[in-house]
Amino acid sequence: MSFDSLGLDAAILKAVAEQGYTEPTPIQKAAIPPVLEGSDVIGIAQTGTGKTAAFTLPILTRLLRAKSGAQRGRVRCLILAPTRELVVQIAENVSAYSRHARLAVATVYGGVGERPQIAALRAGCDVLIATPGRLLDLGGQGHGDFSAVECLVLDEADRMLDMGFLPAIQRIVRSLPASRQTLMFSATLSREIEALTQQFQRSPKLIEVGRRSNPAETVTQKLYECPGALKQAMLHHLLGDESMRMVLVFSRTKHGADRICRKLAAHGVQAAAIHANRSQGQRQRALQAFKNGEIRVLVATDIASRGIDVDGISHVVNFDFPDQLEDYVHRIGRTGRAEATGTAITFVTGEDLGELRRLERIVGKHLHCGRLPGFDYSQQAPARAPEPQDGERRMERRGQRGGHGDHGPQGGRFGGRRAAQGDYRPYGHPGSRRRGGPR
Ligand code: AMP
Repeated sequence: MSFDSLGLDAAILKAVAEQGYTEPTPIQKAAIPPVLEGSDVIGIAQTGTGKTAAFTLPILTRLLRAKSGAQRGRVRCLILAPTRELVVQIAENVSAYSRHARLAVATVYGGVGERPQIAALRAGCDVLIATPGRLLDLGGQGHGDFSAVECLVLDEADRMLDMGFLPAIQRIVRSLPASRQTLMFSATLSREIEALTQQFQRSPKLIEVGRRSNPAETVTQKLYECPGALKQAMLHHLLGDESMRMVLVFSRTKHGADRICRKLAAHGVQAAAIHANRSQGQRQRALQAFKNGEIRVLVATDIASRGIDVDGISHVVNFDFPDQLEDYVHRIGRTGRAEATGTAITFVTGEDLGELRRLERIVGKHLHCGRLPGFDYSQQAPARAPEPQDGERRMERRGQRGGHGDHGPQGGRFGGRRAAQGDYRPYGHPGSRRRGGPR
C-alpha cells in the first residue's frame, strides 16, 4: 500500500515523499483513515513505528480541507506532550510535513522565554504543540483562544493521563469545545488509564498494532545481575566494547545522572547529563551534542524516555530500574527505531527482582537475567560517601513540582475555582513502586 491511497492532501504527500517515506507503517495504515474521517482514536503501537506521522498527516489534511481556515488569535489543533524535548521534536515533524501547505505551527513549553510564545498565541495558529505546564501558565495570564480547537491530541497518552498530569489536562480540556476530535497515542496504555480516556473522547476507535506494551522487536533485550555497588564498574566494563557507539543511560534520579556522568568523565568517556535540574539550554545542547556524535554517552532521567527520536542510538542502558515499569518499554524504545536494530541492557540488583517479575507481566514474556560475561563480580566496590538515597529522592520530588506538575497560576483561560482543585498531588501510578516525581 502506498501513501497515495490513504486520501491525504497532495501538499502533504509531497512532503512525505521528500522525507523518503515510501510506504506507510502499520499504525499509519490503520490510523490515518479514521482520523481523516474525524473519528476519535486511541492508537497503540510499538515505539519508533511512526505514530507521530500517523496522527499528524491526517490532521494536517483535515485542517487544509476545513472551510473555516485559520482565524486570528485562535488555535485550531492542540497537541500536548509530556516533555519540552518532545514538543520541539513533534513541531519539527509537523513543520516538515506541512512545508508545502500554508499552515502556521507554534510551540509553547517551559524553560525558555515566554514572549515569542505569547506573540504566537496572540496571532493564532493552525497547530499548537505544548507542554501542559507552560500552556496553563500562559492561559492563566489570559493568553490563547482555544474556543475553536477542532482537534486535540495527547501524545504519550498514558503519561498525560497519569496523576501527575491529569488535573492539568482536565483544566485545559474544559476550555476546549466539546465538539472537537480527540486523539490519543502511545506505545503503552494500561486498562486503568484506558478507562480515563472516556472523560475526553466519544466512542473512540481503538487501534492496536501488535500487543500492548510490547517492546519493539528490533530491540535485543539483555538483563544482567548487578550488585548495586558495582553498577558504575559494570558500565565502564560494558563501554570497553567499541560497538557501543552511541549510548543512552537511564538513571532514576537527577543527582544519580550527574554522578554517573562525572564518573564516566573521570574514566575518560565523553558524556553529558539531561534532567529537570538543568536549564533548557543545557538540555538542548546535551541532546544536540549526542545527536552530532560529539559525546558517546548521554545520561538521562525519564524525561528522555518518551518519544525522543535520535537516529543511531546503538545501546540503551538501564543503570537503574525505572520507577514506573511502563517506562521500561519507552526507554528501550529509544533504540531500534524505524526498523534499525539496537540493544537494551538492564542492570538488575537484588532489590529489583520483585519488579522484574512484574515487568515480565507487562511485556508479556520471560526476561532472562544472567551474569555479564567477563565482568569481575568479586571486585571490591569502590569506597564512596554514603548515598543520600531516599532523602535525596524526597528532595528531588519536592523540587520537581515546577516540572511534571506545574500547572501554572489559577484563573485566566483555564478557569478559576474549579481549576484550583487541580493542584499537583504526589501520586501512585498503577505501574509504579515508588511515588511519582522528579525526572
Ligand atoms: P515516531 O514513532 O513517530 O517517533 O517515528 C519514528 C521514526 O520513523 C522517525 O524517525 C520517523 O521519521 C520515521 N518514520 C515515520 N513514518 C515513516 C515511514 N512511513 N517510513 C519510514 N520512516 C518513517
